[in-house]
Amino acid sequence: MGMLFLICLEGSIYSCKHCYTHLGLADDIISKSFHCRHGKAYLFNKVVNITVGEKEERMMMTGMHTVVDIFCVGCGSIVGWKYEAAQEKAQKYKEGKFILERNHEIYICCGPGLVSLEFVI
Ligand SMILES: [Zn+2]
Repeated sequence: MGMLFLICLEGSIYSCKHCYTHLGLADDIISKSFHCRHGKAYLFNKVVNITVGEKEERMMMTGMHTVVDIFCVGCGSIVGWKYEAAQEKAQKYKEGKFILERNHEIYICCGPGLVSLEFVI
């Protein structure tokens, strides 16, 4: 599946592909080298317009983490997860950060909507 990828000087918005709710800004990406069960994923410093699920322990390639799944407030789709805690010292930088699953739920758009982003977290 191809990804809609538009370059825009004002900045790029990551939106839910189902309902177009804005989820994050490209400027807030910490790393693009993450992977999830659907393919590539991005680590964000902050995201918006999401709700969180139950805390759970999850074993990942980089060790055990406490995570919560995050859901789009617009349509309820799962869009990624948040790291609540990491056991490995080298992974502590991810605590409080968010993963958005790129290929599965996210596409990039840009435009005047950027100024109306509302931060709910
Ligand atoms: Zn949505």
